Amino acid sequence: MPTIFSRIATGEIPAVKIYEDDATLAFMDINPASRGHTLVICKAEHPDIYAIPSDLLAATAQTVQRVALALRAALEIEGLNIVQNNGAAAGQTVFHYHVHLIPRWTGDHVLRPWAPSTVETAELHAVAERIRAALE
Ligand code: 5GP
Repeated sequence: MPTIFSRIATGEIPAVKIYEDDATLAFMDINPASRGHTLVICKAEHPDIYAIPSDLLAATAQTVQRVALALRAALEIEGLNIVQNNGAAAGQTVFHYHVHLIPRWTGDHVLRPWAPSTVETAELHAVAERIRAALE
């Protein structure tokens, strides 16, 4: 069963598209967090950052930058949040790799997705050590 984003990519389901190339597609989010909220997808079906091949990840990143420049030029945005959710626990609802571009203006009321906390430096070192070990 293709994902909703695959069905948009093939044209089976309509979307307000703004850019397309062989590997990627950019279109307007149907429930925007702000004016100009755009999604960039990798056309091939890969669920998340863990699964997407690095060449397609790079192609998606290039389209994200291209659309970011267009948003800045077209909408006089003051800021831009780039958000990419992986897993239901992180708020992912469509399991097809995609990146959100959310324009921001001073004083808007679009919320941050997290609240900062405080931590002991020893805990930072302990967590960092586990991550470094996984990188080897
Ligand atoms: P996620 O929560 O998975 O990171 O983001 C999924 C996004 O896809 C949501 O912001 C949602 O509004 C958007 N979305 C879901 N279904 C559709 C659709 O059929 N068309 C469009 N244009 N956006 C969709």
